[in-house]
Amino acid sequence: PVRTRFAPSPTGYLHLGGARTALFSWAFARHHKGVFVLRIEDTDLERSTPEAVQAILDGMAWLEMTPDEGPFYQMQRMDRYREVLAELLEKGHAYHCYSSPEEVEAMRERARALGLKPRYDGTWRPEPGKTLPPVPEGRKPVIRFRNPTDGATTWNDMVKGPIRFDNSELDDLIIARPDGTPTYNFCVVVDDWDMKITHVIRGDDHVNNTPRQINILRALGATPPEYGHVPMILGPDGEKLSKRHGAVSVVEYDKDGYLPEAMINYLARLGWSHGNDELFTREQLVEWFDVRNLSKSAAQWDPKKLNWVNAHYIKQSGNDDLAARVSPRISSLGGDPGSADLPAIMGLLKDRAETLNQLAEGAMLFCAAFNGPDDELRAQHINAESLPLLRDFRQQADALAQWDASSLSAAIKQVLEQHGVKMPKLAIPLRVAVTGRTQTPAIDAVLALLGRETVLQRLSAVTE
Ligand code: GLU
Repeated sequence: PVRTRFAPSPTGYLHLGGARTALFSWAFARHHKGVFVLRIEDTDLERSTPEAVQAILDGMAWLEMTPDEGPFYQMQRMDRYREVLAELLEKGHAYHCYSSPEEVEAMRERARALGLKPRYDGTWRPEPGKTLPPVPEGRKPVIRFRNPTDGATTWNDMVKGPIRFDNSELDDLIIARPDGTPTYNFCVVVDDWDMKITHVIRGDDHVNNTPRQINILRALGATPPEYGHVPMILGPDGEKLSKRHGAVSVVEYDKDGYLPEAMINYLARLGWSHGNDELFTREQLVEWFDVRNLSKSAAQWDPKKLNWVNAHYIKQSGNDDLAARVSPRISSLGGDPGSADLPAIMGLLKDRAETLNQLAEGAMLFCAAFNGPDDELRAQHINAESLPLLRDFRQQADALAQWDASSLSAAIKQVLEQHGVKMPKLAIPLRVAVTGRTQTPAIDAVLALLGRETVLQRLSAVTE
């Protein structure tokens, strides 16, 4: 069975690149009815924080990328890493190296001086017939992996195609520090092996780690998984996507009023495609997901397109569903979501909203306390010219048998005809009088939703 994993380092929030990698691994597992594993790579004690772990879990939960196994935490697997280190030492695939960091630096210098790639020179690497130097007193060794020196390490990358590294290019990697703690590449190898990962999809900043990981896996007698390295995401300016480009934590997008289904759709299109389809559901993504359609070139972040996708999902959402999502946002703007017919308001606003926050702002028209238009607007729009129209309209409205948009629209038309004026002459003062704004959605619909009592009262307040 297919087993994939997402293996973030909890050194910050779940950023867009990480979320996208997780999404590809998740979709691949789901497509193949496999298993998606979440593994928290928290061995960098200085940079890992519990808050970052939580932020990652929150981001995954928001996007509903639910792991089938995990989260596993590398810090809880230290005994296992030590066990495998011992095994590698015992089988001669790893060795103790007593060279000090200064000595290793000097080796690198010498290599550089010869025009070679800077590297550890293998002083402590055991070879048949070779005598190792005497162990320096009191010095704690690192453990190095005894990398093959000839041949090449190759794999057929699911994204990039065939990749080849000459083994002579690869250093004998440090797999445990002087204090015995395992290093990053080694933990990944043991985990991918123990967790029976069959397909690794990750950022292409890891391409250089892959041959090292493959060689360690082979030394352990394991079959390496398939690897697919996805290119990074660029900002709109073509630079690597970073904080400079605005919100890069996925939960920020939740706060800003993006729908998780829109985010999933948008992220999937950043580096993956299915024909010309731009809009698709999570289920379609799972059904269609094929690593062969992952792009070899970097994807570019496009906030306008994200807004377009989000607007689509808002339009598609049911009014009750939107009301439930927008309600807490209205509260945090200081409005009372219970004071109005929220689903109907959503129906009125959703065709023109790009985010849930815009819906909440729009709904404040109906959910916020209103103490009349501000003085400036009032002076500008409620005047000798408009007052007779407003008074007549109030009278017509008061007499309406039915309080709905079409009756209100008929009442408006009648007043316009009566006075021989065009729509804006009444609509704008009316908007100002009852909402304090010069622009609103269709005025008849707004009046209908505000309700008879509210509208008549607000009109009285400016006309009397
Ligand atoms: N922990 C690594 C990172 O966050 C990913 C390792 C991997 O996917 O192999 O960059």
